[in-house]
Amino acid sequence: MGFNTSLLHGAAAEDRYGSTQTPVYQVSAFAHESAEELEKVFANRAPGFSYSRIGNPTVSAFEKRIAALEGGIGAVACSSGMSAVTMALLNILQAGDEVIAGSGLFGGTIDLFGDLAGFGITARFAESVTAESIAPLINERTKAVFTELIGNPKLDVVDIDAVARVCHDNGIPLIIDSTTATPYLVRPFEHGADIVVHSASKYINGGGNSIAGVIVDSGSFRWDSGKFPQFGKYRIFGRNSYLAKLRNGFWRNAGACLSPFNAFMCSVGLETLGLRMERICSNAKKLAEHLSSLDGVTVNYPALESSPYYPLVQSQLGGRGGGILTIRAGSREKAFALINRLKYALIATNIGDIRTLVIHPASTIYLHSTKEQREKAGVYDDTIRVSVGIEDIGDLINDFENAIKGDNGNG
Ligand SMILES: *Cc1c(COP(=O)(O)O)cnc(C)c1O
Repeated sequence: MGFNTSLLHGAAAEDRYGSTQTPVYQVSAFAHESAEELEKVFANRAPGFSYSRIGNPTVSAFEKRIAALEGGIGAVACSSGMSAVTMALLNILQAGDEVIAGSGLFGGTIDLFGDLAGFGITARFAESVTAESIAPLINERTKAVFTELIGNPKLDVVDIDAVARVCHDNGIPLIIDSTTATPYLVRPFEHGADIVVHSASKYINGGGNSIAGVIVDSGSFRWDSGKFPQFGKYRIFGRNSYLAKLRNGFWRNAGACLSPFNAFMCSVGLETLGLRMERICSNAKKLAEHLSSLDGVTVNYPALESSPYYPLVQSQLGGRGGGILTIRAGSREKAFALINRLKYALIATNIGDIRTLVIHPASTIYLHSTKEQREKAGVYDDTIRVSVGIEDIGDLINDFENAIKGDNGNG
């Protein structure tokens, strides 16, 4: 099956009336015929649902579709992308442990590592995550390497095969935040990643109508090496031990569940992921190429030949650079003026919408970061992040060109 066919026919809707979509089971609890039956459902000895914080048919259908799309053994949906990042990490970390992360991470994730420091979990940052940069940071306390596939907004691309090799030589899992890449660009498990997380609020949903997250497990990492003693009773689940521990442990107890309605919206959005990404990647490339030919701005987009990541985009991402580009306008004032002159691009803190969105990261998402943290994340005073939408490319090019030229006094 090709990508678009598999989005529609890969995991069927679950409903006895033949609904083409799994309906929204907008309920808190599920009633059962007898006390014995509910006992079995609670003990995982019978299929079924008891309470929507623990499991829900609409959410479960969404999880199965994502797992199938990534080629994983299962998925757990979360209330947000940040909740997915948090749960994916806390499922395997304890006080005293260390994580290696890229310094170009999403601002919320950088802030999260600050929060985790209060619980004795240390993040060690590599400027960009490469086989060479992480090797010297690994020690006996290192329990995971966490990185975004295409950094948001640094737009550095990770060579998954090379990084996974170093991780596995040291007995540690590679966790990839694949929000900006989506399975349309690459399926990280095919390159050796162990766990994938997504903010489904972005490209998976696509319409900018829900906050959601999801964690997917490849099933290939061995958690019984002695490095992860907290897996204890979950070891009997073998390949499923990571997901079993997550579902029965921290995820359930922290109440990180996705709402059935948001799962439904994300499921509907997911069906057009291929079409949207095809258009978004094509628009982003054309816009990046056009803007790089103009005076007064510099453009960063991984699929531009001028990008240091161009070869990796060809070999790992099928030549597609995703939907985000950044523009440097020369100064903070010029960046603000450019943003304010745009007609179609909305000024909003989101990515992956069908509408083109722009933001000045230094004064918003990175407001709480130090100048050093910002610059390591590729965020300068004059940086504008553009999340390209599905508008007609001619309109987008005109909009940005007029906004840039306006700055030169050409109207
Ligand atoms: C948006 C985003 C997140 C956080 O997701 P929310 O759904 O907003 O909680 C995490 N990682 C990346 C790369 C993101 O773009």
